[in-house]
Amino acid sequence: MTPDEAIAALVSGNQRYVDGATTSTNKPEARPALAAGQAPFAAIIRCADSRVSPEIVFDQPLGELFVCGVAGNIPTMEIVASLEFGVAVLGAKVIVVMGHSSCGAVGAAIKYRKDTSPLPGSLPELIDQIIVPCTVDSDPDDPNALPAAIECNANNGIDQLLRSSKVISEAVAEGRLKLIAGVQDLESGRFTITRH
Ligand SMILES: [Zn+2]
Repeated sequence: MTPDEAIAALVSGNQRYVDGATTSTNKPEARPALAAGQAPFAAIIRCADSRVSPEIVFDQPLGELFVCGVAGNIPTMEIVASLEFGVAVLGAKVIVVMGHSSCGAVGAAIKYRKDTSPLPGSLPELIDQIIVPCTVDSDPDDPNALPAAIECNANNGIDQLLRSSKVISEAVAEGRLKLIAGVQDLESGRFTITRH
């Protein structure tokens, strides 16, 4: 499979999901082959949001997607290292930075930017990674601020991956890998590619 074929498989799988015509199954008889090894064609950074599931949204069975998750779908160091394994060892042909509508992490980045009360626990370290590139000039009262920041955050993930990983940037330069970013609309189910 080429990177373009991998992207096409995701696009057609998402169309089946949107249409309510999914075909993927995870039957018991498939498990011995899965236990013997994996060769996922795509690697994904997803948000932790309970309404986001790449296997369902792209209509893929177990074994096809190498999925890494963190609130706000940002490429933290651990996510980058996981993706490097997915590309260098398992041979994934595309990395998807998968944003989604109504993302609470990105919403927090907009809302708490000027807030004097700090976020609890370790959340500031996570949210700062969204604020700095994508919401520093956002108006919290602008209804378009959240969708714009969600798209920015997904697109920005590509730059961060290329900047922070030689394994990934070299695979892209050699044509073995493509990076795409996009946003899943929770209401329609549609995943729209916003950068490739
Ligand atoms: Zn989210």
